[in-house]
Amino acid sequence: MSTPAFAADWTGGTEAIAYQACPACKSAWYFRRQFCPSCGAADPVSKPASGKGKVYAETLVHRAPVPEAKGDVPYKIVLVDTEEGFRMMAHGDPALAIGDTVMARFKPFLGKTVPYFVKAG
Ligand SMILES: [Zn+2]
Repeated sequence: MSTPAFAADWTGGTEAIAYQACPACKSAWYFRRQFCPSCGAADPVSKPASGKGKVYAETLVHRAPVPEAKGDVPYKIVLVDTEEGFRMMAHGDPALAIGDTVMARFKPFLGKTVPYFVKAG
C-alpha cells in the first residue's frame, strides 16, 4: 500500500490551498480522494492552487453553526470557481457578490487558519 504524497494545504495549518487533478481525464476537484470522481482512475495528483477564482454563489451566515462561532456571525460563505477548474467553499469578505473576481487570503476562525476570499485587483 502506498502513501499518497499530498501538497500541503490549510487543513494542515499552512496558508495554501491544495486540490487534486486526474492525469487521465484532466478533471480537478477539491476534496481529497483516492480515485478520480469523473473517470475512476487511481492515483490523482495533488497540486497547490493559485487562490484565484470567481464567486459562483454567496450567503451570509447569521446563525452560528457551533456555540464557539457566536462572536463571528454574521459572516460570508462563498462558493468559488477557481481558475484551476474546481469549486470550493470558503469564508469571504462580506461585500463579495456573485461574479466577483477573488483572491484567497487566510484568517483565523475557531482556532484554525481558513481560506478567506477577498475581491481581486
Ligand atoms: Zn479522471
